[in-house]
Amino acid sequence: MYFIGEEEQQAALEVIKSGSLCRYGPEESRVTTFENSITEKFNVEYALATNGGTSSLIVALYAAGIGLGDEVIVSAYTWIATPASVVIANAVPIIAEIDNSLTIDPNDIEAKITPRTKAIIPVHMIGVPSNMEAIKTIAKKHNLMVIEDCAQAIGAGFKGARLGTHGDIGCFSLQQSKIITTGEGGIVITNNEELHDRARMIHDGGNLWGVSKHTSAFFPGMNFRMDEVRGAIASVQLTRLDGFIENMRTRKYKLREAIADIDGIELRKVHDKNGDASTTMVFFLSTPDLARKFGEVMGKYGVPAGPMYTHGNGDKHVYPGWDYILQKKTYHSNGLPYTHPTYGDIQYSDRMCPKTLDYLGRAICIGIGHEMSDETIDKVANAIRSTAKDTL
Ligand SMILES: *Cc1c(COP(=O)(O)O)cnc(C)c1O
Repeated sequence: MYFIGEEEQQAALEVIKSGSLCRYGPEESRVTTFENSITEKFNVEYALATNGGTSSLIVALYAAGIGLGDEVIVSAYTWIATPASVVIANAVPIIAEIDNSLTIDPNDIEAKITPRTKAIIPVHMIGVPSNMEAIKTIAKKHNLMVIEDCAQAIGAGFKGARLGTHGDIGCFSLQQSKIITTGEGGIVITNNEELHDRARMIHDGGNLWGVSKHTSAFFPGMNFRMDEVRGAIASVQLTRLDGFIENMRTRKYKLREAIADIDGIELRKVHDKNGDASTTMVFFLSTPDLARKFGEVMGKYGVPAGPMYTHGNGDKHVYPGWDYILQKKTYHSNGLPYTHPTYGDIQYSDRMCPKTLDYLGRAICIGIGHEMSDETIDKVANAIRSTAKDTL
C-alpha cells in the first residue's frame, strides 16, 4: 500500500451509508464504474473486477478453457499464487527460467513447449514488463494463449500499450502490498468478448446475475465478485496510479544514472523504460558471494541490502520456495492433475532452473518509494559507490 487518503475514506463511507454493499444492489454500481474506468485508462474492451489477484488468475485460466491434460508455462520467479492457480485449474505448471530482466526467458519458453502446452503466463515482476514481443511471437507460432500476470505491475506498459493488453487476458491484484490497493481485490482484462463472458460466468456462480450473449455456455461458476466498498476505493486509487508510477520512475532512473558508471555492477535489463512501473531498482554483482558481501557492506553505509535469493530461504517468490508445487501436493488424495496418464512423469526439483537462482542470487534490490527524496537517492547512490570501492 502506498497511500490511502481522505478520498478513499469518503468513498467507502458513502457506500456503507447507502446500505448497498453488493454490486448487484445499487442502480449505479461502484464496481461497474471502476471497471469502466479501467477499460478507458487501459484502452481495452472489457474489464472484470474480482476479489483478488489469485482469483483473477483462476478466472483467466478457466475462461481460457485450461484444465486436465494441459500444461501452462510459468516464470520461475513469481509469487506462488501463479503456479498454484494453474494446479487449481487442474493443469500442470511447467517452470521456465528468467533472464537478466528477472522476467521469463523467451528461449526457455521454447525449450519447455510440449504437445500438451496450452498457455504461457509471463509475470511482470516488480513492475518491469516482460519481453511481450518475443513471447507473443512464440505464442503465435505454437498456438498458445498468453495470460499476463500483472499483479506487481498495474499501470506499467510495453511499447506504448499497458501491460495486460498484450496477451489474451491480463490479471491484476489490488492486495495491500501492490502499487494501488483495496486491501484485497483484482481485475481481469481482455479484448475478447467470449473470454470476458466466460470470466464473468466463472467469477459469478455461472453468471447468475448478469447477462451474457454466450448463454449456451452456462456452466458452474464460483463467487469471486468484488463488493461496492472496494469498488469505491479502487476508483479513487486508480486516479492516483499514474502519479505514483511517474514519481517512482523518475526517482529510479535518477538512481540508476547515479550508479551506471560503476564497474562490476550490471543494472537489471528493462525491456521498455517508458513502461517501467518498478517499485525497486535491481542490479547484479558477478557472483552470489560478492552479492552477499556487498549487501553487508552497504548496511554499514546505512542502506541495508542483500541478495534477492539465498538457497533455503524459503521465499515463495522463487520456485524452490514453492513447496507444495515441487512436492505435487493437491487437496485431493487422487493426486490429480499430476497423476493423469497424459503427463507421464512430471519431475520438479529445487535446482531445475539454475539460471534463475544465479540471477536472483547475484541481484541486489533497492526499494523505491514514490516519495523518496533527493537526499535519500544521494544517500543510496553514495552507499553503493562506497561499497563498490570497498568490495569490487
Ligand atoms: C500478489 C501476487 C499474486 C496474487 O495476488 P493476490 O491478490 O494476493 O491473490 C499473483 N501473482 C503475483 C506475481 C503477485 O505478486
